[in-house]
Amino acid sequence: MVKEIEIEGKIYYECGVCSLDYAEREWAEKCDQWCSAHQSCNLEVIGHAVGAMGKIKEEIKE
Ligand SMILES: [Zn+2]
Repeated sequence: MVKEIEIEGKIYYECGVCSLDYAEREWAEKCDQWCSAHQSCNLEVIGHAVGAMGKIKEEIKE
């Protein structure tokens, strides 16, 4: 499932499977669907990712 995360006032969309973040919900949903169905990443989709900031954020919190 795609999660919405907020970092420094900006909303990003995170793939619930691989935890990559996207600036656009459309790409996050494509990634999430692909990851759920194939258990791997689609290079064409993850090329649109802006990073894995949700993970970085969690690390900062700890
Ligand atoms: Zn994914």
